[in-house]
Amino acid sequence: MNITVRFAPSPTGHIHIGNARTALFNWLFAKKDGGRFILRFDDTDLERSRREYADQIEEDLLWLGIRPDKTVRQSERFPLYERAVEKLTEKGLLYPCYETPEELELRRKVRLSRRLPPVYGREALKLTSEERQAVEAQGRKPHWRFLLPNFDDDPFSPRRTEVRWDDLVRGHQTVDLASMSDPVLVREDGTFLYTLPSVVDDIELGVSHIIRGDDHVTNTGAQIALFRALDAEPPVFGHHNLLTTASGEGLSKRTGALSIASLREAGIEPMAVASLAVLIGTSEAVTGCRNMDELAERFDPASSSKSAAKFDPAELAMLSRNLIHTMPYEEAEEQLNEMGISGPGARPFWNAVRGNLEKVADAAFWWRIIREGPGETELSDEDRSFVREAFDLLPPEPWDRDTWRSWTESVKAVTGRKGKALFRPLRLALTGKESGPELADLMPLLNRDTAMSRRP
Ligand code: GLU
Repeated sequence: MNITVRFAPSPTGHIHIGNARTALFNWLFAKKDGGRFILRFDDTDLERSRREYADQIEEDLLWLGIRPDKTVRQSERFPLYERAVEKLTEKGLLYPCYETPEELELRRKVRLSRRLPPVYGREALKLTSEERQAVEAQGRKPHWRFLLPNFDDDPFSPRRTEVRWDDLVRGHQTVDLASMSDPVLVREDGTFLYTLPSVVDDIELGVSHIIRGDDHVTNTGAQIALFRALDAEPPVFGHHNLLTTASGEGLSKRTGALSIASLREAGIEPMAVASLAVLIGTSEAVTGCRNMDELAERFDPASSSKSAAKFDPAELAMLSRNLIHTMPYEEAEEQLNEMGISGPGARPFWNAVRGNLEKVADAAFWWRIIREGPGETELSDEDRSFVREAFDLLPPEPWDRDTWRSWTESVKAVTGRKGKALFRPLRLALTGKESGPELADLMPLLNRDTAMSRRP
């Protein structure tokens, strides 16, 4: 089977790690089978959708390593939806309704008080054409509902109608079409709600698998009915659990909390974000994968738990740090070059400092220390004269990984200092810091002249 998936964000805010989870599930699912990945912007809400958000989402996906094969915008596809509206109307499956939200709410309460399910009772379907004209003459415009196939002959006597599918994540699923209201597909002002454009595009773009958050499980029942009403076979569905904050709140696109853009700015590694977004709430241990291939190996949608997964930003920082501490030079090279860290010294430098970095950008600090020295260093008078004496004992070049050991041994023999009293002032004089990368690794990066220039 040719696999085609899609990630369908509405560009109304920044995507967060929970949205990235959906994008990555789709990407990895397609990648495992050489399938196609479509980025579809659900931007039918012209007021709230913004091009800047869409551009940012594309950038965020690229940063995560997701390269869509195709990008489409629903705002450019309205004629397709109009055609579907015509088709449904011809089949008598779309009907005009005139109720205001207040009227609907009142009816809902009445139904609840009568112990009836609080679904729309299809009252508008009873209107004669004269009655409709009379309502429209008052200036009311219709919104349009899709007549769900949950009855035999009489739409006012719905019966239990099970829609079933084998969910990639949740296994066997059943939704009863009699338990839901006929969905509104077109608003009063003629704009489309999400349901119809989504199904039309999934058909038109040949989407074979829809993987999305489990907040859409109920929608899926109505959408499957809509696929069939439009003479199409529904695709395979998979609904993954959602991420919440540690305190159990849902993540929101609008608040910008934990947006992918803010994680990138904070220096978090993309593979840390991808690994956590994919592996959290599954039976796999959450550890950082070096690349997408490794993550794809460990990705199995069926191993996700059905309850919400709690996301802890501290775990993300830890994964990121661990990836950096073992990051091969080749992986860091581009970023290092951008910071001006290049040339033959760049590789040994990276290998010496990576174990001390929180983020790759922090390498710039150590590069400057190694090349320019720490500037003024705070040393007591006693330490200053000790350091001077020690620097006079610096061995001749060439320097290698053994230089630090042999130098400090001779300093110890001459001055009698040992332990912290020996190492601390030397580290301070060389780097300006109390702690940092192994000096054995840093010494070969310094030459004797640069080191001598740090003699207080
Ligand atoms: N725009 C919808 C959302 O963000 C897409 C849902 C879907 O994948 O069908 O919730």
